[in-house]
Amino acid sequence: MKNYDGPKVRLMEVCGTHTASISKNGIVRMLSPNIQLISGPGCPVCVTVTAYIDRLTELCMQPNTIVLTFGDLMRVPGTERNLNDAKAAGGSVRMVYSPLDALRYAEENPQLTCVFAAVGFETTAAVYASLLQEALQKEIKNFRLLTSLKVMPPVLDWVCANQGGIDGFIAPGHVSVITGWKIYEPLAKKYNIPFVVSGFEGGQLLETIYALVKLRGMPRVMNLYPSVVTENGNEEALRAMADCFEPCPAAWRGMGVIPDSGLRLHGEYAMFDAGSDGLLQDHSFNTNCRCAKVLTGAVSPTQCPLFGRVCTPQTPQGACMVSQEGSCYNYYISGRGSK
Ligand code: SF4
Repeated sequence: MKNYDGPKVRLMEVCGTHTASISKNGIVRMLSPNIQLISGPGCPVCVTVTAYIDRLTELCMQPNTIVLTFGDLMRVPGTERNLNDAKAAGGSVRMVYSPLDALRYAEENPQLTCVFAAVGFETTAAVYASLLQEALQKEIKNFRLLTSLKVMPPVLDWVCANQGGIDGFIAPGHVSVITGWKIYEPLAKKYNIPFVVSGFEGGQLLETIYALVKLRGMPRVMNLYPSVVTENGNEEALRAMADCFEPCPAAWRGMGVIPDSGLRLHGEYAMFDAGSDGLLQDHSFNTNCRCAKVLTGAVSPTQCPLFGRVCTPQTPQGACMVSQEGSCYNYYISGRGSK
């Protein structure tokens, strides 16, 4: 791959975990300068808009209400403050390590309305679905989700239609476990572009990049993660998701509102919703932050004027520097983009 001297190829790694693995394994330094990797919109925390963070900061101030969340979301800037700031100002916020911890907390504290910050893609939506089935069965009535759940195909369509200049996609491994690899076929045909589903080890990623270079210009989908990814995905998880969620428009940082790219609670599960509809606005905390462009592959993190100066993992100015799956965070800690 280091000696490749064919036409220039731009490949997008969609998933934040792939971004982290590419950095950790120093993959970029093993590639020819003619192979460029760009990060995409697959870090769930990074694509979450400020209206969602603002809603969480409001909810934690309400009487007898507590917000339960993963740690990284507590540092993501809202319009004026993040969840850590809200907590310091008297808000009730508690960090949890899994959605199951959140449900258990609700079960043990029936006097509180427990709002879990449910951010993620198909992979986590499947987990939330099974959690809600348990909550329904056990009649846990004080558990709520503030959802910012998104699905992959519509945003990939958006990137192909609006961004362009991408010769292939490293398709997300975890999402594909749930959805199956077949979901990429319509996009591959529509844009004449290859998708290769990849595992997360360095060797698996190199194999995927090699395949994408070979498949350039071909409408092909290849599954190089067959140990866990199948053609049609996890049918039980997909059924549970369809039971709990229905498609809805969703706002993506940098891309605006994309029809049918989100999931909202429906049917008997709608009672678990903490007021997730209409959280569509996105106001940058720091107007010089380029997260919106980083997430679509339009610019590299190192092209942001704040990168490594004002904005570091200790002083993040945007979500892409907060999350360990964020492009800016990974470029910063690995020196990616400086080769
Ligand atoms: Fe935003 Fe910081 Fe990334 Fe710049 S370096 S785009 S300010 S998160």
